[in-house]
Amino acid sequence: MTNSVPSLPLNSGTTIPQLGFGVFLVDPDDTQRVVEDALSVGYRHIDTATGYNNETQVGAAIRASGIPREEIFLTTKLRNDHHKERDVEGAFARSLDMLGVDYLDLYLIHWPMPANGFFVDTWRTFETFAADGRAKAIGVSNFLVPHLETLLAETDVVPAVNQVELHPIFQQRELKEFQAQHGIQTEAWGPLGQGKYDLFGMSAIQDAAKAHDVQPAQVVLRWHLQTGNIVIPKSNSRDRMAQNFDVFGFELSGDEMAAIDALDENRRVGGNPLEVN
Ligand code: NAD
Repeated sequence: MTNSVPSLPLNSGTTIPQLGFGVFLVDPDDTQRVVEDALSVGYRHIDTATGYNNETQVGAAIRASGIPREEIFLTTKLRNDHHKERDVEGAFARSLDMLGVDYLDLYLIHWPMPANGFFVDTWRTFETFAADGRAKAIGVSNFLVPHLETLLAETDVVPAVNQVELHPIFQQRELKEFQAQHGIQTEAWGPLGQGKYDLFGMSAIQDAAKAHDVQPAQVVLRWHLQTGNIVIPKSNSRDRMAQNFDVFGFELSGDEMAAIDALDENRRVGGNPLEVN
């Protein structure tokens, strides 16, 4: 199963498994079990963040799995209160320490926090992690086009990834187009809408699920994969992890894709990056 997950190229010269596993809101007490389950299902891409308070347990799960470090793509994110230039190096080193690894596959600025005005300096420090190899790739999260334009104009390394809220109700077409033009991969957080909509009850999704004899969540993930998004669905349940990983045995038709494309309401469920400060 593992080999069936496509890898997408990053501008760092490395690659990222297009389907991974996220651990937002996974209780630290459950995280080791949950990540061990995800690895046993076949996931080889884990997305955490310092702000999730479970880096230590993610690292413990990776070690307990016995899977060689280099076979796992590991992402974590800089917490919002560590943006100041003098805090970034220490925060990065603590993340490596908590995860028990000597490099990350991807390190992200979690939110741009534009009102603070630090993200350009923060990014310059990120560039040093890429240069010394402790981060194989560096990227951002929740950046809007103007924030990306600022980085492109004022710094040297183009972010490899922008991880943003993205699901059928909020498809982010303009941002995706901008990113494609600049070689920035689009990674979808909340790919299932965080369970905050009745996405799975919508007829475009239900109809495709019936036609392919799969679950609605699998249709949504398949839509992401076919539109080129990197996806990192989260579930504490091993059965759902397995369901979410089993999305390479069917393909949505052009009409089915178009019906899901038409669900876009340009509506967020999560925070607005201009207001998270
Ligand atoms: P998600 O869209 O993955 O939804 C998770 C919810 O869907 C959970 O309630 C889960 O029980 C349910 N679910 C999962 N699989 C299901 C299935 N097969 N059938 C029915 N229900 C199912 O939301 P998320 O966890 O917020 O996003 C995924 C990951 O993205 C996170 O874990 C985290 O790693 C990342 N994330 C990043 C940011 C950011 O600011 N960068 C913000 C939120 C999440």
